[in-house]
Amino acid sequence: MAEMGQVGFDPDELRQRYRQERDKRVRADGVDQYHDLVGPLAHHAATDPYVEPGFTRDPVLDETDVAIIGGGFSGLLAAARLIGEGVTDFRIVEAGGDFGGTWYWNRYPGAQCDTDAYCYLPLLEELGYMPKEKYSYAEEIFAHSRRIGEHFELYDRTLFQTRVSTVRWDDGEQRWRIETNRNDDLRARFVVMALGPLSRPKLPGVPGIEDFEGPSFHTSRWDYGVTGGDTNGGMTKLADKKVAVIGTGATAIQVVPRVARDAEHLYVFQRTPSTVGWRGNVATDPEWFASLQPGWQRERRENFANYSMGRPPEVDLVDDAWTEIFRAISSPKGADRPKTREERDRVVELQDFTKMEELRRRVAETVTDAATAEALKPYYRVMCKRPTFNDEYLPAFNQPNVTLVDVSDSKGVERITATGVVANGVEYEVDLIVYASGYHVTNDVERRMGVEVVGRDQVQLADHWADGRKTLHGFMTRGFPNWLSIGPSQNAFSVNMTSMFDEQAIHVAWLVAETLRREATVLEPTAEGQQAWCDVIEDMAPPPGGFLAQCTPGYYNQEGVDTTNIFLGAYTPGLAAFTRLLEEWRANGEMDGLELS
Ligand code: NDP
Repeated sequence: MAEMGQVGFDPDELRQRYRQERDKRVRADGVDQYHDLVGPLAHHAATDPYVEPGFTRDPVLDETDVAIIGGGFSGLLAAARLIGEGVTDFRIVEAGGDFGGTWYWNRYPGAQCDTDAYCYLPLLEELGYMPKEKYSYAEEIFAHSRRIGEHFELYDRTLFQTRVSTVRWDDGEQRWRIETNRNDDLRARFVVMALGPLSRPKLPGVPGIEDFEGPSFHTSRWDYGVTGGDTNGGMTKLADKKVAVIGTGATAIQVVPRVARDAEHLYVFQRTPSTVGWRGNVATDPEWFASLQPGWQRERRENFANYSMGRPPEVDLVDDAWTEIFRAISSPKGADRPKTREERDRVVELQDFTKMEELRRRVAETVTDAATAEALKPYYRVMCKRPTFNDEYLPAFNQPNVTLVDVSDSKGVERITATGVVANGVEYEVDLIVYASGYHVTNDVERRMGVEVVGRDQVQLADHWADGRKTLHGFMTRGFPNWLSIGPSQNAFSVNMTSMFDEQAIHVAWLVAETLRREATVLEPTAEGQQAWCDVIEDMAPPPGGFLAQCTPGYYNQEGVDTTNIFLGAYTPGLAAFTRLLEEWRANGEMDGLELS
């Protein structure tokens, strides 16, 4: 209580409340509570609503230097950076009917980038493109993916509507063999996995999902045939419909205000409330944009990444609710710098409580019904879940046609019936169910990627990594020659995913080009090089029982059950430091830790 006078809250009480909120949500089945899409939803996911039905083509048999699996931003960046290195003999294989990845599939109403567009949209300087607003909406982001495809002439090199099932190393031919759902036989010297970390939608394992007789879909497969309108709104077919949205993560926060605007009634089923910070979207000032100097995008991205790593530079270039959070929870510097780790942890925890109190106050000041406001208040530390930012979400709960249903006590909705959703023993009859239930993000490689990877001696990647990831810099693993992967994996994570993808794409492209320049056939980590990198990552691993273990469950902490090795082992000094490390490694020219043959 001594501290309460100084900070306006009792840290012990908050600590206890956070523990209670966590404990009541942890489920013994952890990540197994989630299922792949089933029944009509699976059919819906397998069929692409954005292309003409019935597409067929003859199987393709060809050989290229590189096969890029995935045509989202990571695949597009890999292609752009390969071209930059002079490697032009490559193919992209993409499941969707166009480029864009997550922005191809996610066209739900209100879909928007949650980080600053000047950081998020890749290759702005190369393409000379000025984002319309500080936070771009889905349409603009999807159009930007297409712009990259056109600029680098990638359309002719891409097999769209093609899902890769297996990539298999053929040691005799020293080639990767790529199998697809269109019976292609693609061969490539190098394979670049660019699947995106959030590409496989999941459903809560709730009984009865297949019994619902009305329409239902996952947010990543929004069916405007059912709702009317488009990603910008105008869902006129909802005017006489009762709609259930299950889930209140980053996606639902964007969906809810739009459905609330158009539906007769909206029930929002919430297990854990998200933090909802201010957004303050503004149109881009053309004069400011024209004044930016070459190299500005990388500088801005690094500035933002440094904020996120608790090393705020003097000038906050992005200056938004994200950097406000990072500033609020960074350990004090200079004369105020805590002397010990314990002292630092205590100070940062207090700062975190203060920030969360502010976010809880925002709920209380916005939502008029006291019980609803109370249920919408998040009780956990601010980075336990992806923070969200929206100026319309909380006010939506003041509308008479919106009801919040808190399902935290029962660890989720109980059941789906033919006509509705059961929660807390009550059946809510609805005409449409929207699952905003997220994506498979697990340490289980196969479940996460959905592609079988088979290396030398027929070893499966899932078995190879059964006892933990083993990589050099997160990109390559021994026994899987010429296999390169882009995404979070024993490397530096950034909340602005595309900065991370771009730095990785630059490195991957260099590795491929350098192997070709040196006229080698096979590039692979040495056992020692790989071990040395695993040791670096191991030394950076948070102690068991640390920050994430105390968080409410979610995909950040493997649903609170297995809190080790989340983010697949991170290089904690952050993106800017990792980028410097890779730049120095490349400049050194020794290809330390890799062998060429
Ligand atoms: P999340 O996994 O973040 O959220 C899933 C939601 O479903 C959670 O609220 C979860 O509750 C809820 N849920 C799961 N099971 C049940 C159940 N049985 N009953 C009731 N509720 C349930 O998925 P999202 O799609 O919202 O977001 C995933 C990620 O996608 C984000 O974290 C972000 O990284 C990214 N994203 C990025 C955007 C951008 O602008 N760049 C926009 C949107 C998403 P609980 O929390 O209790 O598990």
